[in-house]
Amino acid sequence: MSRRLTGKVVIATHNAGKLAEMRALLAPFGIEAVSAGELGLPEPDETGTMFAENAAIKAKAAADATGLPAFADDSGLCVDALDGAPGIFSARWAGPTKDFAGAMARIFSELDRRGASDRRAHFVSALVLAWPDGHTELFEGRVFGDLVELRGSAGFGYDPIFRPDGHDRTFGEMSAEEKHGVDWQRGQGLSHRARAFVELSRACLAPGA
Ligand code: IMP
Repeated sequence: MSRRLTGKVVIATHNAGKLAEMRALLAPFGIEAVSAGELGLPEPDETGTMFAENAAIKAKAAADATGLPAFADDSGLCVDALDGAPGIFSARWAGPTKDFAGAMARIFSELDRRGASDRRAHFVSALVLAWPDGHTELFEGRVFGDLVELRGSAGFGYDPIFRPDGHDRTFGEMSAEEKHGVDWQRGQGLSHRARAFVELSRACLAPGA
């Protein structure tokens, strides 16, 4: 049985791009959101081997430290011809300077090195909501598409090289609204994070709460 979320929540991220996306997704539900970065919470080591494990580590650490319910998303880009890499190491491929131009170039050079012509890839978002008493809820979203030459400067991370199925433009060429494509009436979303969030909202949020 899912637990309802009301009042205040911590968004357990230090990533400004993700924070902005999560705040926008939470806005219709009247939930007050503070971020782990704003509260000065340390970033726990992401020692899991799966997206869901890492999201749980981050959400539980923030819930324990603040006594408030906390959200965390662990996400990344999985490239089929690279056996799912960079996957949970998506942020790490950009290094400490967050050089995503370099990380995107590395994807194409690894594909070339393997002589791979398959450009299929998908983004994954594992969203965990953790309460201070140890209760957790997990929701996952995926969006499938193709890797293309870098286009657009919107969004963050690997957005400019990912063209979702059924679209002509990359995430880097889309507004945040279009990238998430949330349709509350139909309970649908486009981005991996929006899809996970729609599931979470169905289970744990009340519209206009
Ligand atoms: P983490 O979940 O904070 O470990 O990092 C996930 C990393 O995956 C981000 O730093 C981005 O590199 C990448 N990523 C996750 N979601 C997106 C997205 O929506 N667009 C582009 N890149 C993303």
